[in-house]
Amino acid sequence: MSETDEKIQGYVGLPPCGPYNSWDEVNAPMIRQLCEALGDENPVYIDPDFAAKSVHGGLVAPPTMLQVWTMRGVGGKWAPGSDSREPFEVFEYLKTIGFPAVVAVNCEQSYYRYVKPGDKLHHMSSIESISPQKTTALGTGYFVTELEEYFDQNGGKVGDMRFRVFLYRAPDRAQEAAPAGEPATPAKIKRFRPIENHDTKFFWEGVRHGQLLIQRCKACNTLRHPPGPMCPSCQSLEWDTVSSSGKGKIYSFVVMHHPQIPPFDYPNTILLVELEEGTRLVSQVIDTHPDDVQIGASVEVVFREVEEGCTLPLFRVVK
Ligand code: ZN
Repeated sequence: MSETDEKIQGYVGLPPCGPYNSWDEVNAPMIRQLCEALGDENPVYIDPDFAAKSVHGGLVAPPTMLQVWTMRGVGGKWAPGSDSREPFEVFEYLKTIGFPAVVAVNCEQSYYRYVKPGDKLHHMSSIESISPQKTTALGTGYFVTELEEYFDQNGGKVGDMRFRVFLYRAPDRAQEAAPAGEPATPAKIKRFRPIENHDTKFFWEGVRHGQLLIQRCKACNTLRHPPGPMCPSCQSLEWDTVSSSGKGKIYSFVVMHHPQIPPFDYPNTILLVELEEGTRLVSQVIDTHPDDVQIGASVEVVFREVEEGCTLPLFRVVK
């Protein structure tokens, strides 16, 4: 094991950092607002009368909300009484040795009891494992698993969350870091190919023939996109297609700056286009000055082979 790898592995199994305290007790207004935002209408979370008669004997918080209670505020400050140490020191170290990008991989969660209004939670944080250096389609780096253990005011454990993240450098960085005299062979990252299945095959075949097809219900003529087997208006399974003019307007857009995922160019402008026919689709802008990307701007489709064998319907602003 290299000295660097030894240092990296040294973060595993250290005594946990913490406590990281909660700003507020578990409380009904925050539960209600989260449920409202997510559209969760389970009455044990939001209806005190119903909850009182349930097995819980009163309101409880959605278990998946656990992380909310001990989060730092928007300003990045931990709640009073929290450990002043940075729980993610290993992330900073990996950045300094050339693995600056981070992508969340997954989160495993265990719940030991429901938390209720009035509970005061804190969590402890430790690094449970770090993989050997690995190379994936994104780049080369390390998978780091952070364990967050959540406790109540009596020290009883209420849940665990394991966050696995990949800290990496993209292939072009790997090339820069290749030892002098050795040819660097970074993997060429390709675009994810659109998934063609029984429902979407017609759309991509249309694109290959320079046509933007929209699915139409044969029973009620409702147009729909993205494609699916059943009409959401009348539940008919019968459908055909109409060919779109390819003209429309920018209904909305977002400009991605970070994290930069290969192979896209950044800033990466993603459009939600509303076609003349009324359906909307997600696409990318092309051949357009960034200042011209405005909500309501007129756009037209451009069929562009972005890579060998991969033609996509992209849009440019027309004036
Ligand atoms: Zn229909």
